Amino acid sequence: MARYSILIDIAKCNGCYNCFLACRDEYYGNDYLPYSAAQPLNGQFWMQVKEIERGVYPKPKVSYIPTPCMHCETAPCMIAAQDGAVYRRDDGIVMIDPQKAHGQKGIVNACPYRVIYWNEDTQIPQKCTMCAHRLDEGETLPRCVESCPTGALVFGDLDDPQSEIARLSAQVQTESLHPEFKTGASVQYVGIPRRFVTGEIVFSDNESECAPNVKVKLTGEGQDRETVTDIFGDFEFEGLDKNGTYVVSVEADGYEPVEIEFTMLSDINFGEIELDPK
Ligand code: SF4
Ligand code: SF4
Repeated sequence: MARYSILIDIAKCNGCYNCFLACRDEYYGNDYLPYSAAQPLNGQFWMQVKEIERGVYPKPKVSYIPTPCMHCETAPCMIAAQDGAVYRRDDGIVMIDPQKAHGQKGIVNACPYRVIYWNEDTQIPQKCTMCAHRLDEGETLPRCVESCPTGALVFGDLDDPQSEIARLSAQVQTESLHPEFKTGASVQYVGIPRRFVTGEIVFSDNESECAPNVKVKLTGEGQDRETVTDIFGDFEFEGLDKNGTYVVSVEADGYEPVEIEFTMLSDINFGEIELDPK
């Protein structure tokens, strides 16, 4: 028996919303009983693309986090459901039975990921089914994965060593979107945004001209990384620990070195860091 999962690479997601639209196209107005009932016109995001604004002006960033049902091994929605209205298939897909779940609004509130939606018209809770109706008909991909132009979504059978998802999962460190929920999420992520630090190096003796190709090091929290500034004198270190303490060191020939110690209470932009001549 298969063990289906989706591996989501945040770094590859450009926020195009194709996955969301493909999901809407598949389910809006379409019943696939007993798998799922039709999505209503508004208010349901079975594949939600969350936008996370990061950093501070003038160097902000946006990260996109595709968020379907996580198909949890220990699913709180399943525990909250009565009469077996939510069940886990042998292939790991967590399903809501549209008929048995009628009137059970408590199922919506049980999900810590907030990915179950209440259909006011039909009085049923609804969510992503990993396109189980398609898979059972022999299709190889859910619609969202099929529509993704960047390869940010990889679907497959983790128990099949030949599958791309099994190969990738063995090569990279994957994680749950919210490991603190402890639900055993089957959907896994790589590249979940952490904190970043950025700044611009300038030469103080030259009308604050930007300093390209300057060596910048970052140490702390077990890290020892190095980069060089770009043509605008900018540098950046991504993937830093929340509340971690680090040191940025800047070195350029003919200039006094600079060291800055800081704690990642939030994303940091140092702005201009001046290098004084020796
Ligand atoms: S993410 Fe929410 S809806 Fe999906 S299986 Fe887990 S608890 Fe249930
Ligand atoms: S289709 Fe792919 S790239 Fe576009 S928003 Fe969805 S996951 Fe991101």
